[in-house]
Amino acid sequence: MSLKLDNLVPEHIRLFDPYRPSPPDAELMRLYGLNHLHRLNNNENILGPSPAVRELLAEINAGIIPIYPHGDSQNLRDTLSEKLGPDRSRFLVGNGSCELISSVVKAFCEPGDNIITADKTFAVYEWVAEFSGIEARLIPLDQNYRFDPDAMLAAVDGRTKLIFVCNPNNPTGTYWDEMTMRRFLDAVDGRCIVVADEAYCEFVEQPDFPDCIKLQDEYPNLVSFRTFSKMYALAALRVGYLCAGEDVTDIISRAHVAYSVNTTAQMAARAALLDRSPFIGQTLEMVRSGRKLIADTCEKLGFDYIIGEGNYVMIRTPISDTLLQRKLLRRGFLVRTMTGFRFPNWIRVSLVKESVLEEFCVVLTEIFS
Ligand SMILES: *Cc1c(COP(=O)(O)O)cnc(C)c1O
Repeated sequence: MSLKLDNLVPEHIRLFDPYRPSPPDAELMRLYGLNHLHRLNNNENILGPSPAVRELLAEINAGIIPIYPHGDSQNLRDTLSEKLGPDRSRFLVGNGSCELISSVVKAFCEPGDNIITADKTFAVYEWVAEFSGIEARLIPLDQNYRFDPDAMLAAVDGRTKLIFVCNPNNPTGTYWDEMTMRRFLDAVDGRCIVVADEAYCEFVEQPDFPDCIKLQDEYPNLVSFRTFSKMYALAALRVGYLCAGEDVTDIISRAHVAYSVNTTAQMAARAALLDRSPFIGQTLEMVRSGRKLIADTCEKLGFDYIIGEGNYVMIRTPISDTLLQRKLLRRGFLVRTMTGFRFPNWIRVSLVKESVLEEFCVVLTEIFS
């Protein structure tokens, strides 16, 4: 029997080039003959998870495993409500915030519609739109590597349903301050949904950084996306959430698969929110010292770099980013190449423990000496 796959597959799926994740660490270590691998590629917080989460995980009983999780993460939404203020009906929890990106596109977009975001940002917005058959309008960052509000506004038309603003931006760490965000929302004037992806908001220490959950009182078309994968260090458990006005959350939840967030993830996320240990302060301290270390090393090497607000920095390399990635991998450091983010010959480096970054800086300097 022959399968006429082409007759079954929509063109936007046939043309889509899927993301290929890096191989498991054990395989990379075998390939490169390593006995240790430092992961500086995914902006993970290796200080975590926090003590309360570790305690909880050590005590988890296998008796919970045969039972379905709460289908709508009710207890976790109650805890989010206690910590952040809005009623629990305004929160929607997903299997990582990536699942929520997919749900918001499904909820608002149909063929012929478009979304707007930047060209050099988190690629999942663009990918979800494209494999859903929706046009993604990618607006170049401005000269300071910021999302360009005026150019984005100029791209809005009657079929624009969603605008994704990564704040602060991955990979540049640049952000819109509250004034810029407000001016943008005033100009959008409720014509489309504005998603502020705040995956790294917990790392921002700038007083003018906007709280997009608070701004929802004035701008009912504003949606905040956040994640437990970065600051809270629960990446393996896959849990993120959005907050919006009650009616907007209700619409998105219709396109969202219930039961997608497992019980362990829901419990760990609650524990992470309730933890009063100095874990977050320690992480911020680690990130601050990492920024300084990388800046100093880049200055010495004469390399361009971009240091913004997340737990990551970008470095421009005088050789190809994939070649540098392989050279670093041979020395036990996995970094992210940026060609795929439309930053050819830049790498992105996650800010991890000072001792590891010191070693990284030594290796980087050796490679170029
Ligand atoms: C890491 C990241 C996310 C999402 O992560 P999940 O693990 O799916 O919650 C979302 N947005 C940005 C910008 C990120 O860097």
